Amino acid sequence: MSKYSFARLALHALRGHRHWPRVLHDAPPKPTYDVIVVGGGGHGLATAYFLAKQHGIRRVAVLERTAIGHGNSGRNTQVSRSDYFHLPSSKFYDRSLQLYEGLSRELNFNVMLSQRGKINLAHDTHELEILRRATNACRANGVDGEMLTTDELYRLIPALNRRARFPIVGGSVQWRGGISRHDAVVWGFARAATQLGVDIVQGCEVRGFVRDGDAVVGVETNRGRIAAPRICLAVAGHSTQLARKAGLDLPLTSMALQAMVSEPVKPMLDQVVMSAKIHVYVSQSDRGEMVIGGGADVYASYAQRGGLPVTEANVQACLELFPAFSRLRLMRQWAGIVDISPDTTPIMGTTPVPGLYVNCGWGTGGYKAIPAGGETMAYTLATGRPHPLIEAFGLERFEQGRLIDEGAAAGVAH
Ligand SMILES: Cc1cc2nc3c(=O)[nH]c(=O)nc-3n(C[C@H](O)[C@H](O)[C@H](O)COP(=O)(O)OP(=O)(O)OC[C@H]3O[C@@H](n4cnc5c(N)ncnc54)[C@H](O)[C@@H]3O)c2cc1C
Repeated sequence: MSKYSFARLALHALRGHRHWPRVLHDAPPKPTYDVIVVGGGGHGLATAYFLAKQHGIRRVAVLERTAIGHGNSGRNTQVSRSDYFHLPSSKFYDRSLQLYEGLSRELNFNVMLSQRGKINLAHDTHELEILRRATNACRANGVDGEMLTTDELYRLIPALNRRARFPIVGGSVQWRGGISRHDAVVWGFARAATQLGVDIVQGCEVRGFVRDGDAVVGVETNRGRIAAPRICLAVAGHSTQLARKAGLDLPLTSMALQAMVSEPVKPMLDQVVMSAKIHVYVSQSDRGEMVIGGGADVYASYAQRGGLPVTEANVQACLELFPAFSRLRLMRQWAGIVDISPDTTPIMGTTPVPGLYVNCGWGTGGYKAIPAGGETMAYTLATGRPHPLIEAFGLERFEQGRLIDEGAAAGVAH
């Protein structure tokens, strides 16, 4: 498969765009691989790509039960940022943002990164102090961030409610934060991994594990048995169900997280605006739709639609911040199943089951982590030891009491 370039685009345009080669081939599964990655979301595909690219391990299969990107990686609100409070999260997410900044070139696929700034609003002086503390922590960790006055906020966001019931008293911004196109991230990694020889097997559901003593040495699928000495689970909201089949209990709760989009309108919101107190965040997509998200439905569920009371609460919160949006019609609402860990920090690395690795617990915020998640899991699978950036994210932290409570520290975990 050759590279995309201006010359190729022009050539294909002259031929009516009828002769582009297929990007993905339906790979039939082989009987054995060096590594099996379960889950064809962003994390699984990025892991496979970096295994092939950085470690030369190309006998890799990504097994996806539906089609790539049909899980949370194609359902999220696309926010990327690295303004985390605790040092391990800060280092990890900033590495991810750095990788995003070069991703279109790396993958030869435009992921449409738009670093338009991600703004947090404060609605009282206590919240403002928390934002100041978080911004100071970012700067101490080498991550960009600055405080904004109310005047600056209203200048940047003219549509913001000046008479909000919870008055806006200031805010903070990470200018390197923003959004990118989630389908492009999935397709970019899939295409690049395929080019390096990775097999992406769609319609292949993992239903069980092949054991040799304590170790897992393969998987049972609807398309037969496939063997590999290293198996990585990257199945987001279904991590507990699948890990249990390998005898591993993960401390995760699966809940629905909703999002919705309005009809498209002319550009009127330049940044991503987030309010932890009112609990909503909004950005405007390149197509003009207002993309609205909020908190997870607070009960365990595997229904990928979400409950109406939360939809209503998200809309109410959005209108509290932007009363003018009441004239917009909602076009679509949907949900994904997110896997929330007790400290809202991911669980990555080796497990007590030999041969089994996990990449899960992303909760409401794993899209921004896809490039670094893939890079660090690939290192971990290739070497058998956790990458230094994810040493603190191991499962053993729950036994040792070394929790990294980003939800409590930042007040929001998206
Ligand atoms: C509404 C919503 C908004 C969000 N907004 C943001 C945001 O703005 N910013 C952010 O950073 N994060 C956000 N997230 C979270 C983010 O989308 C996820 O954390 C991230 O996409 C997880 O990627 P993944 O590759 O681990 O999982 P997924 O993309 O869910 O991929 C897992 C794949 O595993 C497959 N699978 C499951 N079981 C099996 C099996 N037995 N065999 C084979 N395949 C299987 C699934 O079909 C799925 O395709 C949001 C999530 C939702 C739902």
